[in-house]
Amino acid sequence: MSVLGDVRKLVADLHAELPRNDLVVWTAGNVSARVPGEDLLVIKPSGVSYDEITADAMVVTDLDGNLVEGDHKPSSDTAAHAYVYKHMPHVQGVVHTHSTYATAWSARGEAIPCVLTMIADEFGGEIPVGPFALIGDDSIGRGIVETLRHHRSPAVLMRNHGVFTIGRSARDAVKAAVMCEDVARTVHIARQLGAPIPIPQGDIDSLFARYQNVYGQEPVA
Ligand SMILES: [Zn+2]
Repeated sequence: MSVLGDVRKLVADLHAELPRNDLVVWTAGNVSARVPGEDLLVIKPSGVSYDEITADAMVVTDLDGNLVEGDHKPSSDTAAHAYVYKHMPHVQGVVHTHSTYATAWSARGEAIPCVLTMIADEFGGEIPVGPFALIGDDSIGRGIVETLRHHRSPAVLMRNHGVFTIGRSARDAVKAAVMCEDVARTVHIARQLGAPIPIPQGDIDSLFARYQNVYGQEPVA
């Protein structure tokens, strides 16, 4: 199979993780991946239900969001994904969801504080809030890039909207979206009963460094 065929299949398969992890309703939410060695990305078409997603149904666009290959219109979030790939060359995957708890934090414009070791591990600090931005130009993409450039976090809560995550692979970006919703929920519940305890910066730094280094290896007891 061609490289492009492989990326189409990967992106189609990863979309199944969104409903499986309760991150989406209806057709909201999408995964994209950069095509290695090309200024192209693969993303879900607009308005296609999760049951109808196949590798062949995926669409290919350039990094300005223009359709290159596909029978359907690209997702309306394509411009934001494309802007991220264009301005963050290390990013290989982007995910967008309106997952409930994380989006509730975004509705308040409040960053998720680093009060769990898994937040330090995966996000390296708080999960930041990005600006309010309207769909239709590059303002969502710009807001994602400008916010994530100043954070270790692969996730940003775009204010009054939802979550965007990035990854060194599309699978990493999906994982960050799943973890973001999970910690958003846990910290929300913690706050119902009192004030969560912040983790000191030095401990956040060592947790993050350790997790990034052992990532992908056999766990060490
Ligand atoms: Zn959205």
